[in-house]
Amino acid sequence: MSLLEVESIDVFYGSVQALRSVSLHVDEGEMVALVGANGAGKTTTLRTISGLIAPGSGTIKFNGEDIAGVPAHKLVSKGIAHLPEGRDLFPTLSVEENLRYGYWSRRKRKSEYHDRLDRMFDHFPKLRERRKQAAGTLSGGEQQMLGVARALMSDPKLFLVDELSLGLAPIIVTQLFEILKEANRGGTTIMLVEQFVHMALGNTQRAYVLAKGEVAMENSSQALLDDPMLIASYLGEADLEQAYEETHPHAKAEAPAKPPASRRKAAPAKKKPAATTRRRPPKDR
Ligand code: ATP
Repeated sequence: MSLLEVESIDVFYGSVQALRSVSLHVDEGEMVALVGANGAGKTTTLRTISGLIAPGSGTIKFNGEDIAGVPAHKLVSKGIAHLPEGRDLFPTLSVEENLRYGYWSRRKRKSEYHDRLDRMFDHFPKLRERRKQAAGTLSGGEQQMLGVARALMSDPKLFLVDELSLGLAPIIVTQLFEILKEANRGGTTIMLVEQFVHMALGNTQRAYVLAKGEVAMENSSQALLDDPMLIASYLGEADLEQAYEETHPHAKAEAPAKPPASRRKAAPAKKKPAATTRRRPPKDR
């Protein structure tokens, strides 16, 4: 049994269908990426899992329990933390008050609070310096640190992270990914949505590619990094070239920045890649 099992969910915004029969799973201890073009449905998927949106149909199981439609605040106490796009901090509360809120949203043992707070301040010394400052007055990078720290204060079993890198300097993004990986090594399962495909694939074990509200592909992140043409037809050209350059660091100096023509031709223009890719077959239940 996987920690998270999403089965055939349909999600609507009024009459607009954003997700069509999306199925995916995340095993305990995994770090899984959700990638896809703008509007593919990545944020909607996270928001549905975390209880901010109720699916029109389908099931979502967390630890074997059906949680589809259970409101977000109840899911936090079950161990699901969500860092949404825009962070959702309390801007007038101090850094420390935001962290305290994160802790009390799940944990109940008062004695562990200060240990956990110290751990977060060790990860993010800037937050320690600014512990009395209102969250809304922090820089974008510091606010994202606070968002991550607040979620981790609850010691979640599953951490859903939406666009960690949005608007941040690369050095801060790298630092934040290191914290996520450390939390993952400490036992937190992570599912993340990330606009920078190479970042998403380089920091996860497995990935789902969403296209037009459907799961188009599932594969190991390494396989997708090794051959970015696999996901070429689902992403923008810029994402593809960035992924190629990241995974072929010498290509830029020695050869044209774009993938060689032969590889480009190999990319099915609009067809879904087959061969080495796996679609999860629907389960018989
Ligand atoms: P992006 O990377 O641009 O955030 P995404 O892959 O996260 O894209 P979603 O934000 O989940 O995609 O959007 C999926 C679809 O649902 C899009 O067609 C979008 O226009 C639509 N959508 C999202 N939010 C709403 C909303 N509040 N009302 C109506 N339609 C919406």
